[in-house]
Formats: sequence, structure tokens, C-alpha cells
Amino acid sequence: MMKEYWQEELEVSSRSSLEKLQIERLNKTIEYAIQSPYYNKLFNKKGISPGSIKNIAQIQDLPFTTKQDLRNNFPYGFLTLPKKEIIRLHSSSGTTGNPTVIFHNRHDINSWANLMARSLFCAGVRDTDVFQNISGYGLFTGGLGFQYGIEALGCLSIPAGAGNSKRQIKLMQDYGTTVAHAIPSYLGRLYEVFEQENLDPKKNTQLHTLVIGAEPHTEEQRQRIEAMFGVKAYNSFGLSEMNGPGVAFECTYQSGLHIWEDAFYVEIIDPETLQPVPDGEYGELVMTTLDREAMPLIRYRTRDITRIIPGKCKCGRVHRRIDRITGRTDDMFIIKGCNVFPMQIEGVLLKIPEVGSDYLITLETVNDVDEMVVEVEVKPNWFSGDIRKLDQLTKQITTQIRDEVLAKPIVKLVEKGSIPRAEGKAVRVADKRNNGLK
Ligand code: ADP
Ligand code: ZN
Repeated sequence: MMKEYWQEELEVSSRSSLEKLQIERLNKTIEYAIQSPYYNKLFNKKGISPGSIKNIAQIQDLPFTTKQDLRNNFPYGFLTLPKKEIIRLHSSSGTTGNPTVIFHNRHDINSWANLMARSLFCAGVRDTDVFQNISGYGLFTGGLGFQYGIEALGCLSIPAGAGNSKRQIKLMQDYGTTVAHAIPSYLGRLYEVFEQENLDPKKNTQLHTLVIGAEPHTEEQRQRIEAMFGVKAYNSFGLSEMNGPGVAFECTYQSGLHIWEDAFYVEIIDPETLQPVPDGEYGELVMTTLDREAMPLIRYRTRDITRIIPGKCKCGRVHRRIDRITGRTDDMFIIKGCNVFPMQIEGVLLKIPEVGSDYLITLETVNDVDEMVVEVEVKPNWFSGDIRKLDQLTKQITTQIRDEVLAKPIVKLVEKGSIPRAEGKAVRVADKRNNGLK
């Protein structure tokens, strides 16, 4: 019979055997954690010892860990093992401040590679695929994290690295790439280069799947990517504190991301009260590593906002699904008294066919009043066209954004290519207000 799952015994087990494994692994995690200077001090103070977890709900008695705790104890305060045992470090891209660092021993690297292979298999990638990884190789986890998973799965891997779109296209054509991984904001630009070269990815490549992740994006953006490239695009979620990619992944039903609960214990909490929210409700994702030795993290507050999708997935996997990340708690900005997430604005923009793939939200103080300026790139044939039509489009976008976020924006249509392209993850908001949260 054809293999349907990467690890059948873990992916289609019962919830009760998954929970048994979680309790076992949580106790082992505490055993490791207590060897680090940070958790040693904390656990001794709170009387937490290995073996003390008898049922999984007791995890709520353990303290949270925050990004600030990681920064305060940089670089070695969370390390459980002598440096001799450690074989790699990765650090986050530092989108919101100083970087944080995560250390791995050989067990951790193998376990991560296996989770990545499982994730890709779950999205329909097979060892017969040619996999081009369009991702920075280095401290960013999207490079090596994918690389090890692609190899564990057995695809022919092309470690292409990021950028240089013409070369990416050439690699795709030379080797018959069937699957590629990239951040979603890059794919719009890659498509522009296909167009410049008079090529159509639907006809001139063998791509059937794109794996997109590492930055927030909307369902509208996914659909645009699928249409441009004539592929299925699967959402991949991870963060360097939880290894990197391979934390949660969509299966071929594309109805939420299976979060690998044998490796991570998942909670969704209200970020204000810190209490769990019921399944189906949005809150902050909190995760505990269950299979990491060198640097376990207990109840790590990711600041990512999502929810558990109630019910079972058609694919039969026991792992619950989280919904697309709507943003981070620290992405939200307040303008004219309204709470706004950039993804709400992206959702409005990308539904409009005349809008290109890039936009920038600038918050600025004009005559002592805070304004939200939304610059929107429009497709080339539109920009050179009729002024009245541009006016109409501006009005349409203004109204639709206002209806979505309740604050009225100042919309400026701009020519394709005029918004500066970020090197890595897309920058969607620039806060230039006098008293703005930077
Ligand atoms: P940094 O925090 O510096 O950006 P990471 O590279 O570890 O460093 O980024 C992880 C973060 O990227 C996640 O916490 C989340 O906010 C975002 N992210 C990753 N994958 C996705 C995804 N598929 N959808 C939305 N956001 C994502
Ligand atoms: Zn599924």
C-alpha cells in the first residue's frame, strides 16, 4: 500500500496515547530544563521537579517564558548541556528587537529534520520531487531547517538561497523544480521577473507546489500565488524559538495547519488575563517544547495570534489544527482609537484585482493629527490609464479599508516598484508618529 503518513504511529494515534506521550515528554523536558541556569533557579524557587507532572493540565502550574527572559539571559542562560554537546545555533531575524539565540544538540537537529520531513510529506511532497529552497541559508532557520527536512524526506534538494530571481528561474528550468519554498512576499516579485523574461511559470516550469511561510499573509495572497504559478500553495508556520519551520503545516486539505503536538504542547491564552481561551477562540499561542534537549522552553509566549480549529481534519491526523496566524500581539497598532492589524488591510487590498502585490502602511502625524497613509501599488496598465478611474479606485479602497478597520485611511496609488523591497520578510508598517510605538 502507498504510504499515507510520514510516521503513521504518531500521526494517526488516539488522543489518549498522544496525551500519554506528552506527559512523559513533559517530565523529561523538565529534567533537561532544570539543568539550565535560568530554569534551575526558577524551578527551585517554585518547587518544580522532574516527574511532578501527572496529568497534562498541570502544565498550567508552570511559569511562562517570554522573549524578554531569553534576551535577559542571552546567550547561555537557557543552555542545559556543556558546549561540547552542542552542534548548532540559530538566531531569529530580530524583527522586533535584539535577536534571540537557540542552541541544538544532535538529537534536536535530528528531531527537527524529522518534523520538517513530516510537514512536507503532509503537504504532499514526495521523494520524487525536485525541491528548490528559496531561502537565506545562515542564521535564518528557513535555510538549513528546510534543507535537513528535504534531505530526510529524500527529495533532490536545490539549496538555492534567497534573491537573484533570474537565477532562481534558471534553476527551476534547468533541473525541473517541482516544489519550491519561499516567503510569500517574494513570490509576487519572482512572478514579475518571469513576466519580464516573457515566461509563464504555468507553462515554462514543472512546479506543482509552493510552500509559503515565515511571515503573515492572507488567504487572498495565497490564492493570488496559486493563480500566478498554477500550483497549490501550503502554509508553513514556525519560529526560531521552536526550532524554526516544521512547527505547524497545512495538509493537502488546506483547512488549517496541523501543529505537531507530540513535539510541542500547545495552549491558546488571552494575552491580558493569561487564562486559556476555549477552542475556536482567538488568543496568543503559547508553546512548550516536548522533544528538545539542549534548550527546552516552557510555556513560551510566541505573541502570535491564532485559534484552535475545532473538530477533526479529513486527513485523519490526530494533531489539532491552528488557523492562519492573523498577526502578532505587537503588530497591532492603534490609529484614531481603532485597533488595526496589517493583515486586515492586506485582506481588503488583495481582493481588488487592480492592486499589485506590494503595499505600505505609514503612520504619521500631520498637523498634530495621527494619520494612516496606505500606499498601494497598482498594476502597470492601470497606472498609465484614465485619471478618473484612478480616482474611483482610490475612493473604493478608502471606503473598503474604513469599513474593515473603522479608521479612515489616506490612500495613495503608486506605480509598481515604487515601494522599497525588504531584503527578507516584508515590512508592511512604518510608524513615524511623534508618539508612535516604534
Ligand atoms: P523574528 O521573530 O525575528 O521574525 P523568526 O524568523 O523566528 O524571527 O520568525 C518567526 C515569526 O514569523 C513567527 O513568530 C510569526 O510571527 C511569523 N511567521 C512564521 N511563519 C508564519 C506563517 N506561516 N504565517 C504567519 N506568520 C508567520
Ligand atoms: Zn489534515
